[in-house]
Amino acid sequence: MSKGTEKRKCCGRVWSAVGFHFYECRRCASVREGGKWYCKTHAPSLVKAKNDARQAKWDASAKARREGWAKEEAEAAELARRTSHFEGLLAACEAALLYIKACKYSDIGTPITQLIDAIAAAKGGK
Ligand SMILES: [Zn+2]
Repeated sequence: MSKGTEKRKCCGRVWSAVGFHFYECRRCASVREGGKWYCKTHAPSLVKAKNDARQAKWDASAKARREGWAKEEAEAAELARRTSHFEGLLAACEAALLYIKACKYSDIGTPITQLIDAIAAAKGGK
């Protein structure tokens, strides 16, 4: 080989899951960093960029999960808040309806009839 085109080997290390040991990368080196030669897979700057991209993706995913959990917690808290007022609201509606009925209007109207049915359903009557 002529000078300058000599093929250099990457000095990166590869983990062998089969043998449970590291061995030297067998690829040709094309990137020089810190006075050492690496292939495009093991160049420290490229490894760091790949790890940073993976970390950013993981961070974004974790952030989305945390926001999802926070949203679910907020929705559960809102549901609990509304549920805590349900019995009082039901009782107030029922009292108002009894008052309206006591006034002995000839026609209490469809919305009131629907409300009576809804309260009965909420109480388990229908
Ligand atoms: Zn390599």
